[in-house]
Amino acid sequence: MRTVSDYFGSMVFDDRVMRATLSSDVYSSLRKTIDEGATLDISVANAVAEAMKNWAVEKGATHFTHWFQPLTGITAEKHDSFITQAPDGSVIMEFSGKELIKGEPDASSFPSGGLRATFEARGYTAWDPTSYAFIKGKTLCIPTAFCSYGGPALDKKTPLLRSMEVLSKQALRILRLFGNTTAKRVVSSVGPEQEYFLVTREMYEKRPDLRFSGRTLFGAKPPKGQELDDHYFGVIKPGVTSYMEDLNDELWKLGILAKTEHNEVAPAQHELAPIYTTTNVATDHNQLTMEIMQKVAARHGLVCLLHEKPFAGVNGSGKHNNWSIATDGGQNLLSPGETPYENAQFLIFLCAVIKAVDDYQDLLRISVATAGNDHRLGANEAPPAVISIFLGDELNAVLEAIESDTPYKGTKRKVMKLGVEVLPKFNRDTTDRNRTSPFAYTGNKFEFRMLGSSNSIACANIMLNSAVAESLRIYADILEKTDDFQAALHDIIKNTIHDHKRIIFNGNGYDDAWIREATEKRGLLNYRTTADCMPHLMDKKNVDMLTSLGVFTEEEMRSRRDIMLENYCKSVVIEANTMISMVKTMIAPAIESYAADVARAAAAKKAISPDLPCTYETSLVKTLSSLLDEICIKTDKLESVLPKLHDAKDVVEESAWVRDNILSAMGELRVPCDKAELLTDKKYWPFPTYSDLLFGVK
Ligand code: ADP
Ligand code: MG
Repeated sequence: MRTVSDYFGSMVFDDRVMRATLSSDVYSSLRKTIDEGATLDISVANAVAEAMKNWAVEKGATHFTHWFQPLTGITAEKHDSFITQAPDGSVIMEFSGKELIKGEPDASSFPSGGLRATFEARGYTAWDPTSYAFIKGKTLCIPTAFCSYGGPALDKKTPLLRSMEVLSKQALRILRLFGNTTAKRVVSSVGPEQEYFLVTREMYEKRPDLRFSGRTLFGAKPPKGQELDDHYFGVIKPGVTSYMEDLNDELWKLGILAKTEHNEVAPAQHELAPIYTTTNVATDHNQLTMEIMQKVAARHGLVCLLHEKPFAGVNGSGKHNNWSIATDGGQNLLSPGETPYENAQFLIFLCAVIKAVDDYQDLLRISVATAGNDHRLGANEAPPAVISIFLGDELNAVLEAIESDTPYKGTKRKVMKLGVEVLPKFNRDTTDRNRTSPFAYTGNKFEFRMLGSSNSIACANIMLNSAVAESLRIYADILEKTDDFQAALHDIIKNTIHDHKRIIFNGNGYDDAWIREATEKRGLLNYRTTADCMPHLMDKKNVDMLTSLGVFTEEEMRSRRDIMLENYCKSVVIEANTMISMVKTMIAPAIESYAADVARAAAAKKAISPDLPCTYETSLVKTLSSLLDEICIKTDKLESVLPKLHDAKDVVEESAWVRDNILSAMGELRVPCDKAELLTDKKYWPFPTYSDLLFGVK
């Protein structure tokens, strides 16, 4: 029998294949490029391209593509076949180093946020050798970055790679001060836990809202939702099990380390978590995972919903971004050490994260902002839109003791001075896990829980890496100049705790009292929507930080803000139009014909016996008619606010109009429709209900 280890990574041009197919010179040049970012010689590129092509063709590939991540949030590919015509009329399969390194997709239709006039529409893709090439279907996919000819990045990979670079550089400065002379790089790693829903394709096809917007825009609460908590970690249904098995196989062939799978809180909701890996690769893998999840679902007669809030009143789907930083030698810098000295180093990295999250709360919120995720953040099953850090009791007590110069329980009642022998060995406080914190320390990593299930994880990690790099840069500037390292270190840690302890919160993040305390007493930001937070991307402190580190240019930032806001407006407008059309062509006619049939039934009864009261029919028809009137008025209202969007002077104003007028009109229209659903004979209702969808997969 074929075991997983026989086929794991069989579709990946990974280190094993490189070693087997490249000459030792070519292999070591390529390795140097991958590990240290050395530039690649064209002769090496030619040799790699040849080996890649031979390997891919042997596996049945006919085409290659530069696979990239434009700002739309999904992945893009344009396939070219390997064929070249030979003089005798036959074809040979060719692939050159030039084609491997650089591609020129006709990129005029990708959003550029004004970075590129359409007349110079060309952008180019550049090979990212740090992420392995792979075969999908019959196509060799080469992970690439996507830039415009003027230079600005048009994708998510380029700034992600830049952010990893700056984090490595600043972290190395700190490590050198602690006497580490051997580390060459510091790498950030991520394990993203992916949540999703499965519904049957048959039901999905009957719901225009799911097809056009990925979420239900109507639907009354089912009699049974997630109250009993009987789904979470429950027995997985056979249809879902076979989906998961098939999905794992496909992911494993692509070298994706799919590890954990289970049912989630809501009925029909599930989770898949891979083993963590380098951020850049984890990002590529997560994009691929989302794509394969949908493809495999189709084979099983299912649809995988990646929207953040497919069902109102039921748990939404997020993505937990487990993030840590480690040296190339494998030392996790967010893990408490065995010795006091190691722990001083740990504390400074911990402080860098605390400072980063507090200083750049807005950037972290912005990095997860989409129309879909707005429905989830702040609903009381997801983290709130207010960002805070959970540290756990042990670590919290250590920090408090340092800040107040008071003895810590593990230090034999001596006041702690960092870097000297009194610093205790910390217990890893991982048992008491806080599930409600947006940003939780979990023993050797931080879990950032605000990402939406359909988000690319690139954005969150760009901001996280950059903000932490900025803290480390500030610390290193001080520490490199000081004569008294121990004292300066102590001050940095103490001051950081003092200045940023408002961001630390170990209680229940879902509690309303916390939101009041956070915003009123602590002054933390609470940007409820994309329209609220996105304009702040261009705040001076954010532009200064990201441009001075070289992660973005100001122009790139502005284009991203505009694209994100445009996306927000477009998604909501699509939803609004879908609602209007569903009301007019499905919901209203259904209510009308049911009410008419009930009225006819009453009339028929009265024809038999005029004094029959027909109370049931009369009251039902009256209620349905008045709901129908209300639906009509609210549809008109939505139709009247929609076009005013175009009166806005720019995209920031447009997004405010969407938030304040369109979304609220949509919410109002939904109410009478959902009420009518509960009163209408199911035979008349024009599409599957929540009960059908949530309990439909067997
Ligand atoms: P849960 O949060 O569901 O309890 P785990 O804590 O076991 O699950 O792990 C969640 C994810 O965190 C997994 O993808 C795992 O690989 C990842 N992870 C574990 N250690 C690290 C680390 N040092 N850096 C980044 N991710 C990590
Ligand atoms: Mg988790």
